[in-house]
Amino acid sequence: MNSLERFVRAYPPAAPQAGSAAYYLPFVDGRDLVTVPGEAGSASLLSGVVANALPFAEAGAVPLYLGDLDGVACLAYRADETAVAEADRSGTPVRNLFGVLPEAEYTLVGYALHLINWGEISRFCPKCGGATEDTPNAWAKTCTACGYCAYPVVSPAVLMLVHDGGRRLLLSHKAGWGDRWSILAGFVEPGETMEGCVARETQEEVGLRVTDIVYHGSQPWPYPHQLMIGFTARATDPDMRLTVDESELDGAKWFDADALPQLPGKLSLSRQLIDAWVDGVERK
Ligand SMILES: [Zn+2]
Repeated sequence: MNSLERFVRAYPPAAPQAGSAAYYLPFVDGRDLVTVPGEAGSASLLSGVVANALPFAEAGAVPLYLGDLDGVACLAYRADETAVAEADRSGTPVRNLFGVLPEAEYTLVGYALHLINWGEISRFCPKCGGATEDTPNAWAKTCTACGYCAYPVVSPAVLMLVHDGGRRLLLSHKAGWGDRWSILAGFVEPGETMEGCVARETQEEVGLRVTDIVYHGSQPWPYPHQLMIGFTARATDPDMRLTVDESELDGAKWFDADALPQLPGKLSLSRQLIDAWVDGVERK
């Protein structure tokens, strides 16, 4: 599971120790990370030491000191696009670094992306429009005019692996996915439990009722600010005809555990849910 176990978080106004090792996370356009290309499609983070000069930094960029990964200070900031291009480099959309960077680094980059974007949209108070400033010892912005305090938005979304209690699971397909199929997903609404969301979304998207809703695990998904929460659920009437919500999906059907189509990438929570379920079926 993606985790930041090797990562010790820091919050404003903490600063890294001068001269200590650093990972640099320059984001082009607040979106694409400049990395160091490696062998066989891999990549690594830019690294060096904590110093005044940040590679590819936009003029006046103030780095966010995120904390330390394995004791290395992590600094995220906006990159200067021209400087990146002049060095014959480019940024990579963070989601394309999934499986390219080692897992802990990928998770760190997601955290950085979330905070970089939040920094840009939280310069003014959502309540009165006044300027905000860092709230000490937290990722939060406090309004200098009215005192309102705003935190980064995290939007919970559920992933549900719907199965028939036997060897079949339900997969769905969306336009633009090519040959890839995945499990159902949906955003948690205000006032709703995650389990309630699993039941509602499954009914809305394919017309099935579910029971035996069991939590599996979670994964941050900072595009822009989701937290994916995975469940398995059993369809109460798997032989009922599916009614696919065509505004969301262009297909949904049952697959046998040993005849699965192309699936999402190995690091995604959807895939972890599917692999764990298949493993459980094989052991029966
Ligand atoms: Zn305000």
